[in-house]
Amino acid sequence: MIFVGLGANLPSRYGRPEQTVKAAIAALAAAGVEIVATSGLWRSAPVPVSDDPWYCNAVVSVRTDITSGALLEVLQNIEKDFGREDTARNAPRVIDLDLLVFNNEIIDTESLTLPHPRMHERAFVLIPLREISPEWVHPFMNKTIDEMLSVLEGEQRLVPVADGA
Ligand code: AMP
Repeated sequence: MIFVGLGANLPSRYGRPEQTVKAAIAALAAAGVEIVATSGLWRSAPVPVSDDPWYCNAVVSVRTDITSGALLEVLQNIEKDFGREDTARNAPRVIDLDLLVFNNEIIDTESLTLPHPRMHERAFVLIPLREISPEWVHPFMNKTIDEMLSVLEGEQRLVPVADGA
């Protein structure tokens, strides 16, 4: 299974973060990446906690024949096309696309770490992921999504976006 996480907390040319996330999913499909399942849209408070605007998040499951490195390039090209500036980690952004999981690949290179190194501690990844793949088990932590969620420290605020938003 291949999962991609999306997040946006600034307006883009597509509109509000909800619209940007939907447009980024459409851009992935237009790049030839088959969308198998899409979570609902969620609103989440910034992690780490700050006064930045809340994010809109989603997770998609995809199918593709290209390598994980090539898929990361597709994601980065979409980020650039959507007008994302190279900014500091955790800074507000028009769109962030993370390669969360690529089958059972476990890699740690300068450009790509799989599974994504922070996914297991982010409710805004785990809760949408649970909607589309509740049985998924982290390949080296050997934990289910529920197990990862149960040990999250602190309060991570997350609310579903109403249908049609
Ligand atoms: P971010 O600001 O979170 O989008 O981080 C982007 C940087 O993380 C890029 O330099 C990527 O090469 C690197 N990176 C490493 N692993 C991943 C991954 N699994 N998904 C997305 N970016 C990754």
